[in-house]
Amino acid sequence: MSDKTLFGHPRGLFVLFFTEMWERFSYYGMRAILLLFLLDKTKGGLGLNEGEGGATYGLYTFSVYLLSLPGGWLADNVLGQRKAIWYGGITIMVGHIVLAFPSTQAVFFLGLALVAIGTGLLKPNISSIVSELYPEGGAVRDAAFSIFYMGINLGSFLGITIVGYLGQKVGWHYGFGAAAIAMFLGLINYRIFATPYLKDKGLYPKAKQAKKESSVPTKVQPLTWILLAALIIFFVVMQVNGTFAWDSKKAVATSMGVICVAVVLIYFANLLFASGLSKIEMKRVAILFILFWGAVLFWAGFEQQGSSLQIFADRHSELPFGMPSTWFQNYNAFFILLFAPMVGGVWVFLEKRKINPPLLVKFGIALFFVALGYYIMVIGAKVAVQGLKASAFVLTFTYIFHTIGELCLSPVGLSAYTKLAPKQYLSQLMGVWFVATALGNLFAGLFAGGFDEESIQQMPDMFMSIVWFCLIVGAILLILQKPLKNWTGGIK
Ligand code: GLN
Repeated sequence: MSDKTLFGHPRGLFVLFFTEMWERFSYYGMRAILLLFLLDKTKGGLGLNEGEGGATYGLYTFSVYLLSLPGGWLADNVLGQRKAIWYGGITIMVGHIVLAFPSTQAVFFLGLALVAIGTGLLKPNISSIVSELYPEGGAVRDAAFSIFYMGINLGSFLGITIVGYLGQKVGWHYGFGAAAIAMFLGLINYRIFATPYLKDKGLYPKAKQAKKESSVPTKVQPLTWILLAALIIFFVVMQVNGTFAWDSKKAVATSMGVICVAVVLIYFANLLFASGLSKIEMKRVAILFILFWGAVLFWAGFEQQGSSLQIFADRHSELPFGMPSTWFQNYNAFFILLFAPMVGGVWVFLEKRKINPPLLVKFGIALFFVALGYYIMVIGAKVAVQGLKASAFVLTFTYIFHTIGELCLSPVGLSAYTKLAPKQYLSQLMGVWFVATALGNLFAGLFAGGFDEESIQQMPDMFMSIVWFCLIVGAILLILQKPLKNWTGGIK
């Protein structure tokens, strides 16, 4: 029965589709109300100020994506993906149950930590089983990922709609409870259907076998030690001169950001110069390095959906038909479902005419779309500073442009990492791709920290600074395309 297909795909794909759909329901649904709950002073929220709330939001979403590094490692080396997904899902559900009951700030943060740990176990591994269903790669695997991405966004849409409504209109903790129920449904689906339809896929950790085949140098190079020492000295200096501070959520978030950037720089330096790569592999890794920073900036702008854009929706935007302000966040999922086939069609059309834009150009275009979206926000913010509500079209168009940007960058970046990574470093570099999202989320949270009632007059300038940033970096990517044209070694 397991060999039967559905719409030309193995049935296992749909088991993963629904598991991920329910998981994303819980993640995006809860995330939609998270910052509002953290800031709320009157309806049982935590009553943090914007700086502390934004930093908490940033640290949480940062951890969710960062923990996919150990999550992937655990699956590869100890658990196998199947168990990692199962235990990850249970941990997420328990985390949401903790959030579902009114309690202290410390217990609430414990709930968030559980969701982050669980997601780190589930998220990278469910995507890698999808690729295992199609060992031959190629167009069918690409199509499978498009279907899977639909599952992600369907879950996100339903989650934000239901959790957002319950959280804002009924009570925060009903929203969190709904997220727990969603994960429970995902677990039931996985429990019943994984065994018959996924058979032995992802049952065993693969690292042993991979190690036999890999050419990763076993002896640590002298340069690695030097880099490591440089990193440690940097940390000590930052700590001693007081740049690192740990006495508030905002200080922790900032320090974590600096540490993460330093680690990533050292990681790439080590990979490039001390890991025995060939010339062409080094060039490809250099491209991945550039794409990484493009992605960090993109996500830092894009992921403000749950932070500054949510605050704007709640305080300064008209709400059509009295809808909950969190519903703006599901515009992204809705537009993805709408535009994904179109954007895919555009690439195929351009490919046929041999004018499909290269990677760096697509990233540059994505940043221009983020800039365009934020330019619309500048217009909206100018209305808001007069004490008026901005038209709902402001956020609507911002979401449209950001979604088109996402489609130019997210799937393209993911597949670029699978194609350009030296084979023996593939899993690591997949993790690094998620670190770009993690850092972007952290910056998105820190940025929202500036959105307090006192600095409202600065709002147009704050959005404008993102516009400039994205335009400049986007232009740099476009300019770099020419000299770096051959660095991918023929891979598009
Ligand atoms: N929306 C996608 C998901 O949830 C991509 C998220 C990301 O990488 N920032 O999987």
